[in-house]
Amino acid sequence: MPNPIPFVDLRSDTVTKPTPEMREAMFSAPLGDDVLGDDPTVIKLEETAAARVGKEAGLYVPSGTMGNQIAIACHADRGDSILAEENAHILYYEVGGPAILAGVVTRTVPSVNGVMSPEAIESRIMKRSLHTPGTSLIAIENTHNRAGGTITPLSTMKEIKAIGDSHRIPIHLDGARVFNASVALGVDVKEVTQHVDSVSFCLSKGLRAPIGSVLCGSSDLIEKARVWRKRLGGGMRQSGLIAAAGLYALDHYVDRLAEDHQRARDLATRLNCLKGLSVDMATVQTNIVMVRTESAAQEWANHLEAKGVKCFAFAANQLRLVFHADVDDEGVKIVAQAFQDISSSTQ
Ligand SMILES: *Cc1c(COP(=O)(O)O)cnc(C)c1O
Repeated sequence: MPNPIPFVDLRSDTVTKPTPEMREAMFSAPLGDDVLGDDPTVIKLEETAAARVGKEAGLYVPSGTMGNQIAIACHADRGDSILAEENAHILYYEVGGPAILAGVVTRTVPSVNGVMSPEAIESRIMKRSLHTPGTSLIAIENTHNRAGGTITPLSTMKEIKAIGDSHRIPIHLDGARVFNASVALGVDVKEVTQHVDSVSFCLSKGLRAPIGSVLCGSSDLIEKARVWRKRLGGGMRQSGLIAAAGLYALDHYVDRLAEDHQRARDLATRLNCLKGLSVDMATVQTNIVMVRTESAAQEWANHLEAKGVKCFAFAANQLRLVFHADVDDEGVKIVAQAFQDISSSTQ
């Protein structure tokens, strides 16, 4: 019996469940002990992921958070500083990881819709001295979660990389949704990742795997990263069982992200016509829609839930809707109708 899905769940793309085909791939995956280095499915996932993003090596990690935190710890020494966008996931949602784990100071960079200007980054770089914590990493988030799935353009990524190179500072990409970016841009993901030294991406979001992310970079970096993963308790044993889902996802579910983007756009356009709501269409670039609500967003979320639609109130007057493979056209209709009913009954 498949799980009944009583709600249209727009809380996150992490809610996607593995498909029967994906479960079949998991069931039949050859397994070993990955901490001992001989799980063939994990090895294959790491090699496949690294090749896909154009890096030498990959490391399978339990979460995107661990991928980011390991990257920071590998690139930076204790007491260094790193630069990150002021609403970046690594600052906002990783509960102080950079301070606790890598022991670094984070200097924030403002942005327009999650896109930092190269000048804003360069002006915040600090030289190592008796007095100042040298900047040893620049972190980019593409697509940007809290900004609503916005894309940092390739030209901007290239300029940021040039600044990093000129100051000998590596770039880490929090690419939890980097495939959403590449699919929306209509380019191979390497076009995005060529501008960074390391990248972590999630298999467990729009790509529909139940668990896991991959951190990719140079062989030297990944060798250090493997030690950090063990130190953090992220070494897993027959993890080929779940890595198989990631491999299946990379083979089958990347291109279909375009459908999520289309549905996000369609719904955003409809919501923009309703009383009491507005959407900045310029930010609807991938699978996330940020909806401005005139009345309290939490009230909207409660009404929506009563009508079978789950989503998060992201701020006092903002709802976040995230589209993914488990929301089809029928789901979009249900969501649009729910918003319309609430809009007409409360205005
Ligand atoms: C989801 C997400 C992560 C990692 O999340 P986990 O839940 O730890 O896998 C990292 N960065 C961004 C931008 C994200 O959206």
